[in-house]
This record gives sequence, C-alpha cells and structure tokens, in this order.
Amino acid sequence: MILILEKNTTHPQAAQLIERLLTMGLKAVKEEQGDRIAIAIVSGIDTNTQQEHFSALPYVDRIEYFSQQFKLAGNDIHKKRLVIEIGGRTIGGDELAVMAGPCSIENETQIHRIAQSVAKSGAQFLRGGAFKPRTSPYDFQGLGKEGVQYMHDAARENNLLSISEVMDLHQLEIALGKIDILQIGARNMQNYSLLKEVGKVNVPVMLKRGFSSTYKELLMAAEYILDAGNPNVMLCERGIRTFESYTRNTLDIGAVPVLHELSHLPVVIDPSHGTGIRSMIAPMTYAAVAAGADAIIIEVHYDPDNSYSDAQQAISCEHFADIMQRVRAIRNAVYPFKQAAA
Ligand code: PEP
Ligand code: MN
Repeated sequence: MILILEKNTTHPQAAQLIERLLTMGLKAVKEEQGDRIAIAIVSGIDTNTQQEHFSALPYVDRIEYFSQQFKLAGNDIHKKRLVIEIGGRTIGGDELAVMAGPCSIENETQIHRIAQSVAKSGAQFLRGGAFKPRTSPYDFQGLGKEGVQYMHDAARENNLLSISEVMDLHQLEIALGKIDILQIGARNMQNYSLLKEVGKVNVPVMLKRGFSSTYKELLMAAEYILDAGNPNVMLCERGIRTFESYTRNTLDIGAVPVLHELSHLPVVIDPSHGTGIRSMIAPMTYAAVAAGADAIIIEVHYDPDNSYSDAQQAISCEHFADIMQRVRAIRNAVYPFKQAAA
C-alpha cells in the first residue's frame, strides 16, 4: 500500500506518520513524488483490506497499491530513474559509466599498469577481483586483503573508483573504506544473508544476475538490499545459461529494456562473462550501449592470454581503447541527448 500525502505535508510530518505506522507493526519508507510525499508500507499488513483505516490517518490524501512484488526495486514508488552519485561520477545519469580492469588482481604492478591504461582510455571505474569465486578450489583464489589494498591504491592514483566482489561478511569488512562499489557475484545473487549485510552499508552495490535467474528473481534479490536500507543498487546482466554451449553464457541484451521498464535501478552489462569469448566483447559492448545500458563492465589485461583467470575473455588494453572510441560514437548516435563516456 502506498499513502500519497496531502500537498504541503512536510518531511517531519511524514516522518511522524512513519513512526506511527511503526507502532502499528508496519514498516514504511518515504519517497518524494513531484510535489507530494509518498509513504510506501512495505511490510506488516494485509494490504488490500484496510483502506479505510489508512485513509483516516493524518496527512493522507489518497491510497495507491503496489503493482509489483519488488516494491522498492520497482517503479511504483520510485517514479524517477535512480542516478547513483559516487565520488563525482554517476551511474544511471547522462554519462555512460565504464568499468574496466582485470578479472583478478594478480599483483601490485599488474593492477597499477591496467588502471593507468583504462583510465587513459576513458574508464571511470576500475574492476578487479581480490576474492575470486572459482569453480575449482585448486584455481587462483585471489590475493584477498592484500589485493583490496592494491586495488584501492591503483584506483586512487589514477583518479578511478573501484569495484570489487565480496562473498561473505568477513570480506565485506575488509572491503569497507577501500572499495567504492561492492560487487555481489552471480553465484551469490540469492545469498540472502549477504544481501542483507550489504544492505546495511553506505556503499553502492552492483548485483549480478544469477546464471539461471529470472528478471523477477534478480529484482527480488535487489529488494533484499534495498529493504535493508541501502538505496544504491545497480543490476548487472552477465549472461545466462541456455541450451547454447558454444559461448560461455548467452548475453541477454534484452535485460536492458526489460529491467528499465520494471525497475528504477541502473542497468550494467558485462559482455566478458556474458560471452566468455574475446572476439565477442566489442560487438556485445556496442549492442549494450545502443540498447541503453547505463554502464558496461569489461575485463581488460595487458597480457590477456596470461591472465590468471578468465584469459579467454580478457581483451588487451589497446583493444579496450579502440572499443571506447566507438562506444562514444554509438552513444552519441543513439542517445544524442546523453553524454558519451568522459
Ligand atoms: C566477476 O565479475 O569477476 C565474476 C566472477 O563474475 P560473475 O559473478 O558474473 O561470474
Ligand atoms: Mn572474470
């Protein structure tokens, strides 16, 4: 249930009403909608049965109902698209956000060298894993805490913001204060206790779609983070399992318009994991940008073949620089009112 408050209701008055709802055992959040404040009651009631009771509450002008199960991730209450502002950059705004870097942080020199190169090509965010979710326990697992520090330093030195994955609470504690965007990987999309933990921190989260998850499951997973109090969530399509086995995954570009229609959250496309094939990164990146993705995340290495992980999908720094030039042109051609990447 959504309570649309009378015009001129102030924020302190709305907060009072939320307190009152709380004493009634209801959890509610407020959101500005044009010149009105809306209060969304997200849990605690059997919504459709008690309208009269709620209409009689102070400041309530009218009542609306949620049309979506993902109340906070959807757009019933958040009518405007979310623009995540972070360190002078935006995700979901006019500027295309570009995240690039290695699959794994391998050593200090490697991450600094790649950071410098992708920054020069116009990326604003540095990706790189310190905690790696590998299919085999015998494969490189990442540098852990040390890697987080290298990542932090490489990003700062090159005026980039960092994005890196955490898989548990311990890793989250290590990342806090050092990493600018927390990544929840495909394997952990439905790790609800982890989602609740990243929901409590004041750091944006990129939530990757599970290999076999529907859009609705992805949005319900985002709902956990939002419900726990963190409003800055972006959704990442990184390829799904289909009957096709030639590619590592099938990159679902259709996720961009669908998620934009269902949700107010920014959408990121990952053509690297989405295809697993180097020669497909450029065309899939162009398709993603033309489809209206808010951000792209690409694996880049100066020696792609010798990457410690995901070598077959890593592209060289030169290849990335070339893609960036074309991406600008595509963005300008399809969305002339938006800016290309810096
Ligand atoms: C990654 O981005 O490093 C990664 C492991 O991706 P995913 O969770 O999509 O497999
Ligand atoms: Mn990878």
